[in-house]
Amino acid sequence: MIITIDKKMQDSIKKNLLDTLYKKGFEVLMQEGIEYDVLLLTEGDTGMCCADIRMVEGVIDVFENSSSYHLASREFHNEDSIVRVNGCSIGGKEPLCLIAGPCAVESKESIETIGMAVKEAGVDVIRGGAFKPRTSPYAFQGLGFEGVSYLVECGKKLKKPVICELTNIAHIEAYKDVDIIQIGARNMQNYELLKAVGKLDKPVLLKRGMASTVEEWILAAEYILKEGNPNVIFCERGIRTFEKSTRNTLDVSSIAVLKEKTHLPVVVDPSHAAGNWKYVKALALAGVAAGADGVMVEVHTQPENALSDGAQSLTVNHYEALVKELEALSVVLGRKCR
Ligand code: PEP
Ligand code: MN
Repeated sequence: MIITIDKKMQDSIKKNLLDTLYKKGFEVLMQEGIEYDVLLLTEGDTGMCCADIRMVEGVIDVFENSSSYHLASREFHNEDSIVRVNGCSIGGKEPLCLIAGPCAVESKESIETIGMAVKEAGVDVIRGGAFKPRTSPYAFQGLGFEGVSYLVECGKKLKKPVICELTNIAHIEAYKDVDIIQIGARNMQNYELLKAVGKLDKPVLLKRGMASTVEEWILAAEYILKEGNPNVIFCERGIRTFEKSTRNTLDVSSIAVLKEKTHLPVVVDPSHAAGNWKYVKALALAGVAAGADGVMVEVHTQPENALSDGAQSLTVNHYEALVKELEALSVVLGRKCR
């Protein structure tokens, strides 16, 4: 149940209201709003209905939450949430956020070369995986902890925040200087991992599971929010369908749905959806046109020699061209690009 209360409610009346709710066994979460405050009630005595609560002094309105998630919903938090990290903001009316870099950190030199190139072309966050979740155990698995530290060093050198995928709770300490934690598609429903990152004081980019519904995805975000971390960013990266001409099918509609149902920022990853660099630009533009707050793409100085996902990696020239197109589209959409 969701209750809206008068912002100017006297403390004694508020205390009475909260006491009544606690006695009925409700767990109460409060969200301060501009015109009124919102209380979210979970658990509790089902015998107490909306009409009963509406009678309590100071209560403006009460309604049943229409969805299975709460904290992520617009009913609980109407304004767009903006995630801020190390000089970069994602969501709301903030400029489009550009995240770019290689699929995997391959060496100290290569992440720095690629980082420098994307910085020159225009980038807000530098990406690079270190523990790569590969379908084949024989494929390049990433540089592990070494990869994390090369990425962090690169971010410090270039004065840009960095994002790196976390696959294991035991690795959290090694990610302390990583600015944004990425939860990959394969771990979207790894609930212990979600709870663990929910306890961190850093933003989490939550990719959509390759066969997950939007509701399951929002509920995964709810796990992180419920632990106290409000800085969750969704990332649509395509889902598995019967279609074989692309690696995954970019579900552009999910971006519009998320924007309606939740207040959290959304980023589009056209690289893992396309699986082929030739389609990356079109999908990136489609995602932004659908309302994405940012774009995450894989870029490599030598895609043909990349140790993972070379086929979908943009060259630096392609990336520069993409940034220009995104800038032009942003103008049309009334939104800045950096
Ligand atoms: C990645 O971003 O490199 C990655 C592994 O993505 P996903 O989890 O979407 O497959
Ligand atoms: Mn990749």
